[in-house]
Amino acid sequence: MLVSACLIGRECRYDAKHNLDRALERELAERGERAIAFCPEEHGGLGTPRPPAWIERESADAVLDGRARMVTNQGRDVTAEFVAGAQGALAACREHGILKAYLKERSPSCGACNTHVDGKLVPGPGLSTALLRRHGIEVEGVEGRRA
Ligand code: SF4
Repeated sequence: MLVSACLIGRECRYDAKHNLDRALERELAERGERAIAFCPEEHGGLGTPRPPAWIERESADAVLDGRARMVTNQGRDVTAEFVAGAQGALAACREHGILKAYLKERSPSCGACNTHVDGKLVPGPGLSTALLRRHGIEVEGVEGRRA
């Protein structure tokens, strides 16, 4: 399983905190599933801490199709870094034969059901989730920080 690194305790969020989710840890252990931790935004070279960022407009699919950008809260274009991160997530899945990922809800990279567009929380996936789904990888959203 590919798992958002922040969900298993890595301090890789934009604010250098984590989203350790003990319920997910237990679920994976009970099923004997091995977690491959991955942070698309660090992989893409954005560093930690980093400014918050979001999809500029429309959706993650619009970014993948070249119709929209990823931007920071100060308007810096970070599309290349986010796309590199998403491609890294896909490469990690292929390398390990992974067909399912548990990713952190609401993230502009990892969100599964909800993400941020133009600074607002909206329905729809983040960029990495959208790319993984285009390639047949199932993505389940995890809220994070569950006991
Ligand atoms: S939600 Fe995804 S991109 Fe954000 S810190 Fe966690 S693993 Fe990294």
